[in-house]
Amino acid sequence: MHVLVVGGAGYIGSHMVKLLCRRGCEVTVLDNLSAGRRDAVVGGRFVLGDLGELDVLDDLFGANRFDGVMHFASHIQVGESVQEPAKYYRNNVFKTQHLLDAMVSHRTRCFIFSSTAAIFGEPIRIPIDEDHPKNPINPYGRGKWMVEQMLQDYDIAYGLKAVSLRYFNAAGADPEGELGECHDPETHLIPLVLQAASGRRPHVTVFGTDYDTPDGTCIRDYIHVTDLCEAHWLALQRLWDGGGSTAYNLGNGNGFSVQEVIDAARAVTGRNFSVVHGERRPGDPARLVADSRRARTELGWEPRYADLTMIVEHAWRWEVR
Ligand code: UDP
Repeated sequence: MHVLVVGGAGYIGSHMVKLLCRRGCEVTVLDNLSAGRRDAVVGGRFVLGDLGELDVLDDLFGANRFDGVMHFASHIQVGESVQEPAKYYRNNVFKTQHLLDAMVSHRTRCFIFSSTAAIFGEPIRIPIDEDHPKNPINPYGRGKWMVEQMLQDYDIAYGLKAVSLRYFNAAGADPEGELGECHDPETHLIPLVLQAASGRRPHVTVFGTDYDTPDGTCIRDYIHVTDLCEAHWLALQRLWDGGGSTAYNLGNGNGFSVQEVIDAARAVTGRNFSVVHGERRPGDPARLVADSRRARTELGWEPRYADLTMIVEHAWRWEVR
């Protein structure tokens, strides 16, 4: 099977490329390297290009017969999406439509979309299941929800089959140590904490200690990148087996507070780094925890690295490589 991985040079995409190659797929990566790294693509064929370049897409789809497309290429910073919504709607929505149109024109049927827990906004119940109301509170979340809705319409009109995977907090690194998280700038908690532990940063700041949670810090559902990729693989197989369009929430169902992440990092690294208590970050809900039962029952998905210590251990190995 030949899979096109758009954004395959990024954090999650690069882990996906490795998994697809291991499973015997032919893989083509399309990435504009705006955030990804060429050396993170450890298998398949690499094509440098942007979804905004229609001729690149025409050439790619004209020359290849793809059995599936996975789309990881998006901007991911919530705060930036508020400051620069045009950048987010252009890249995450408009350019995604280019990709979908190329798929429709070339009769490529199976699409796996990287969505996000941010489509739910401030949760009204925890854990969050797939049917929880969608009320995104920033352009990043709104754009992702727009694409999910677009996918429903493209299925009805053009028969394009899509699975939207709503990530909670993707974290960790390739257990073999070959790949990991390399965002620039880094905004995610676990790499920032580990950079404080390794001395690359003077400290880590906790964004808010007065939330309505047991220790006052925000609770999130951290899910290992390898488990996420496994869910993509199962979702693609479901489409290949004739399954219809759907969406899954992907998390472990276990919430950990920012303070618990810091404690885990101290235990794993054996280092005592400096922690500063700061203001709340705008738009952060107190608690986001996934109900992933649908993925477990329908896909047979079983996270292997559900334990926070293991997630932090793998990320630490990558940090000090
Ligand atoms: N966070 C923090 N300090 C940081 C970065 C993040 O306290 O330097 C908190 C953030 O407020 C949130 C949690 O860590 O409650 C996870 O944030 P991250 O940006 O990793 O992921 P998000 O939940 O925004 O997708």
